[in-house]
This record gives sequence, structure tokens and C-alpha cells, in this order.
Amino acid sequence: MKLSDVTLTHQYADLGGAFGSRTTPTPFAHPALIHVNPAVLQLLGIDASEAHNPDWAQLGCGKKLFKGSKPFAMKYTGHQFGVYNPDLGDGRALLLGGIEARGRLWELHLKGAGKTPYSRFGDGRAVLRSTIREYLAGEALTALGIRSTRALCIVGSDEPVVREEIETGAMLIRVAETHVRFGHFEYLFYTKQLEALQRLIDFVCQRFIPDTGDMGTSEQAEALLRFATRRSAELVAGWQSVGFAHGVLNTDNMSIIGDTFDYGPYGFLDDYEPAFICNHSDHTGRYAFEQQPGVVLWNLNALAHALSAFVGAETLRECLEEFQPHLINTYAALMRRKLGLTTEEENDQKLCADLLQLLADNRVDYTNFFRALAHYRGERPPSALLALLPPAGHSALRHWLEGYDRRLAHENSDFCRRNRAMRAVNPKFILRNYLAQKVIEAAETGDYRPLQTMVTLLQNPFDEHPQHEFWAAAPPESGKHMPISCSS
Ligand code: AMP
Ligand code: MG
Ligand code: MG
Repeated sequence: MKLSDVTLTHQYADLGGAFGSRTTPTPFAHPALIHVNPAVLQLLGIDASEAHNPDWAQLGCGKKLFKGSKPFAMKYTGHQFGVYNPDLGDGRALLLGGIEARGRLWELHLKGAGKTPYSRFGDGRAVLRSTIREYLAGEALTALGIRSTRALCIVGSDEPVVREEIETGAMLIRVAETHVRFGHFEYLFYTKQLEALQRLIDFVCQRFIPDTGDMGTSEQAEALLRFATRRSAELVAGWQSVGFAHGVLNTDNMSIIGDTFDYGPYGFLDDYEPAFICNHSDHTGRYAFEQQPGVVLWNLNALAHALSAFVGAETLRECLEEFQPHLINTYAALMRRKLGLTTEEENDQKLCADLLQLLADNRVDYTNFFRALAHYRGERPPSALLALLPPAGHSALRHWLEGYDRRLAHENSDFCRRNRAMRAVNPKFILRNYLAQKVIEAAETGDYRPLQTMVTLLQNPFDEHPQHEFWAAAPPESGKHMPISCSS
């Protein structure tokens, strides 16, 4: 499809005024195209050659609209750090409409598009730094097999935007199958708009949950909670397995279909640190890495409460009870794959837990350890692995490897096959904060080459890319725990 043929549909905006407000974007005076994502073009069925179409600079900042656009600020509320906030909604982003490609409907959402009725004290803008971070994270998680929203393009500007420092404004088109969050349901529930809530439940069920179209509201609401519970359990299992900390797990940042949604001060672990807090305004560690499973369940409870208008408490509880076993099973399966195990044994969980304890005790780089483990073939001394730990941890590692050797022998593990399988699930390249910072600093001076390199590596994180070893290295001490501004 040519860019000029793209025509948007507006299933969500057509739900009506209870769901948000028609709002016109405020474009940049001097937009400059920074990046178009070829992978998302393909997803949307737009020709690859259109990546170079100069119209993106206008389309990506609302100066020109896709055919059929109905820019719409969605209303939602939500629990932020455990406290209900009734005043949320798209404060700086607008739903433009949907594109159908290969039987799937993708929604386009323009982030940084100016003030909306829900902007409160905000300026409606986003900055280049945060749009690049959002873009990179979407690509990184997607390539790791974890559901995420993605970015179609980034457009920059010369417009000053005041954050802790003065930065420049940028916009990003976010692409997802839906932008409906837990907070959409909370809004309609707490404002007692039950007929609209019924319509929203039906809308999501029709689109995402097979065989619920003919059900009554009560059955649909139950199916919806089961669906969101399973998807969320899979999502958080994925995060824990790759070492991703979201940072702001408020219910308005929880996608109903289990996408990683709304990137702020997120972080990937460098050293394995369970208590890692990536959000520097999270003083109590509510959203620390190891808290994520519990917090996601807390958020599902908030969703369940919003559905209590239609479903009894006992049934809601039953749905939520599916979370823990599904999370544990999914996580265990992911970790077994990371360890190169193809069968299941009772002791696997302990083998994995012991390793994680060892990595935490010795502050070992999580990604690089698993990548190195893929190349381990029982050699003595296990030099490549020992090199990743301080000497104080060597005997514990040798001890763990003895157990690992026995476990591999149990399933007659073959090195070549195991090595290939482990390299396909243990990335060589992850989105390290200190590298993202380098990409951002270059982009702020108009040099987008590092951005391009990093996108390529993150989209293909399991390949060797021998010319890019620098991007696989663990950070220097100064590059760990970099303060990430929450303002975006
Ligand atoms: P977040 O912390 O990104 O989940 O955002 C929380 C709420 O604040 C959402 O309703 C956002 O739309 C809104 N918001 C965040 N930044 C801005 C901004 N610069 N201008 C207006 N609204 C904003
Ligand atoms: Mg948000
Ligand atoms: Mg945000």
C-alpha cells in the first residue's frame, strides 16, 4: 500500500462522547523527520519504499492527517502508586484511527500532539529523549518475544519544551492493536456509566476474545477478566525472564490485551539486582523489579473491581486465582529455555533460583551471563563464566555448574543443539540505559547514526553482529544506575 492510500477507520472514536473527546492536534511549526520504522511499515502493509516519503514529517506531527483520521483524546482514569486519580486521560496523545492489515486492526496514536481536555497542568508535549526511549524499548521487547506497543515514526522539532532542562519537542506515532487500558474500565465504573461500561466490555470482547460475541454482559466481563489475567501473567513472566523493569505500573499504564504500554523511566537490568528501582521518584520501591508480579496482580484486582458491576465477587476471585499458577508456569518455561533445558524436572525451579541468587550475590551482568552460559560445554576450568564473577563467587559458581552438568546429563543434552537453542533465547544485545543515553545525546546534536545502529541490533538481538561488540558490553560502573528522569 502507498502512504497516500492509507485510510484510517475509527471503531473506538465511534463508541461516542462517553469515551473521550474529538481534539485537533497542535502540529510543530518546523517538523523534521527523524526516523521511520521499516518493521512497523511492514506490519501495517505499507510499502517499504514509503519509508523515504517526505510526507512523514507532516503526518508524524499532525500537520497533515491520514485520510479518515478522527483525532480523539481517550478518557480514562486509574490508580497511580496505589491512589485513585479521577482526572486522567490522553493528556498529550491522540488516537488517529485504525489500519487493517492482514486481518488485524492496528491503531495509530500520536503522542506529543498538544493539549487535550485531559492535559491538566501539562503542556501536551513529549521530548526527543523520551520518544527515542519509547521507540527503542518497543523494538527491544518485541524482538525478545514480549508483547509491546511499537513506534511507527519519530518527528522532531525546534520547539523548546521545558522539563528539568529545556529540551526540544518530538512526536511519535504509537501503534498497538488497542489503546484500551485498565483505567478505561475504572473510569466508567467509578462515574457510574454502566451502559457505556457494558459497551466497552462488548467492544473489547468482540475484538480480542473469540466466542464471546453472543454472550451477555456478565459472561463477557468474566471472560474479559480471565483474558486480561492470563495476558498480564504472560507479560510479567516475560519481563522477569529478560530483566525488564517497567517503572510506572499504574493501572492507566496497563493494556487490556497485555502489551507493555507507556514507556517512562523503564530499565533493563545490567547486574542482576532483584530490588532494582528504575524510577527515581519511586521512593518506596513499589515498582521495583521483583515487585512487578505482585503489582500486576494488584492492578488486576483494580480491574476486577471495575467489573464488579456485572460479576459476583466469588467469580472475580476465581478469575484472579489463575494469575499465580499461569505466571509461575510461564516463567518456569521461559527460564528452562534460557538454561537450555528441553525436559521438565522437579528440581529445575531450585536450579534456576540458586543461579539467580548467585548472580544477585555477585552482581553479575544478567544478559551477558546467560549468553555466556550458551557457550558452556562443561569445560574445566569454566573460564569464560568465571570471568563474569568476582573471585569471591567462583567456588559457588563451580558448585552450581556441577548441578547444572548433572541436569544436562539427565536429558542427554547435546552441546551443538543446546548452544543454538540457547543463543536463540538469550540475547547478546539488550537496551542498556547507558547506551540509550549515548544514542539520545547523539540524536540531540542531529546525529541519528547511533539510533539506526541500535535499532538494528535490538531488532536482531540474538545475532552475533561481530562488528558491534561495543554494544554488547556490560556498562562501566558509571553507566549503571544512571538517574533516568521521569519527566518525558
Ligand atoms: P504517565 O505518567 O505517562 O502514565 O501519564 C499520566 C497522565 O499524565 C496521563 O493522563 C498523561 O496523558 C498525562 N501527561 C503526561 N505528560 C503530560 C504532558 N506533558 N502534558 C499533558 N499531559 C501529560
Ligand atoms: Mg500513562
Ligand atoms: Mg507516559
